[in-house]
Amino acid sequence: AEEQLRQAQKMEALGQFAGSMAHDFNNFLMVIRGNADAVLADLPADDAAREALGDIVAAADRAEGLTRQILAFSRRQVLRPARVELSAAVPAIQRLLEQAVGPQVRLEIRLCPDAGGIRADATQLSQLLINLAVNARDAMPDGGTLTIETTAVTLTRGTPHVHGVVPPGTYSMLTVRDTGVGMSEATLARIFEPFFTTKPRGRGTGLGLATVYGIVQQSGGHLTVASRPGEGTTFVIYFPQLAPEPAPPADPAGAPTTAGGH
Ligand code: ADP
Repeated sequence: AEEQLRQAQKMEALGQFAGSMAHDFNNFLMVIRGNADAVLADLPADDAAREALGDIVAAADRAEGLTRQILAFSRRQVLRPARVELSAAVPAIQRLLEQAVGPQVRLEIRLCPDAGGIRADATQLSQLLINLAVNARDAMPDGGTLTIETTAVTLTRGTPHVHGVVPPGTYSMLTVRDTGVGMSEATLARIFEPFFTTKPRGRGTGLGLATVYGIVQQSGGHLTVASRPGEGTTFVIYFPQLAPEPAPPADPAGAPTTAGGH
């Protein structure tokens, strides 16, 4: 728990720092891009400087994409946690997921109708799924299968994992599995660190899984990962399952939710 707190504090500080940097940086990028665009528009079609200016615009575009990712990571999002049926959340963004993995990767979705309801912010939940899908795509450059599964599970005893222990309880479980390159133990140990990436410059920010980690924390869930080089990677997220009946709206805000004993 102390390690988790330290991680959360580290993320908070890094998030604020990165956010203000990204914001200022973006202003400069807009000046560079805007001026390059304006000059380019005035140049005759055969001007020798067109290619160089085109490169400037393209580089500024990529850099802007990067700052947008950093801003998304650090933004003080207004969270609207609400009851979400886990098995309804996945198909709701199926098209986005398909776009994230691209045509090379087969997307297999298996939904359990009884996976149950969880308390989460819908936008954060989509972000979590998309971050995992993008990583899976990157891990399968020659194609493969991304499986997203929902189910319900009751753990009667704490289950230890690489990154902590899942305490006993009833959970709505989300499994995200790829048939990609997998990870070494050394990589696995560091994947949730903000800015840790093994991807080439310009491709990875190292913020994807740190964000996923933060989202799972905020929904009171637990995140486990298993991976072997050459054999793919499986992320399992345990969300505390809500009681079957939605709480009446008159419930005092912030009242603790009890997991259903069914
Ligand atoms: P980024 O994707 O920008 O590198 P992440 O925090 O999302 O940042 O991931 C950190 C690192 O974890 C990646 O660079 C990669 O080495 C590893 N990783 C994450 N997901 C997977 C996966 N599905 N398969 C293999 N390696 C992965």
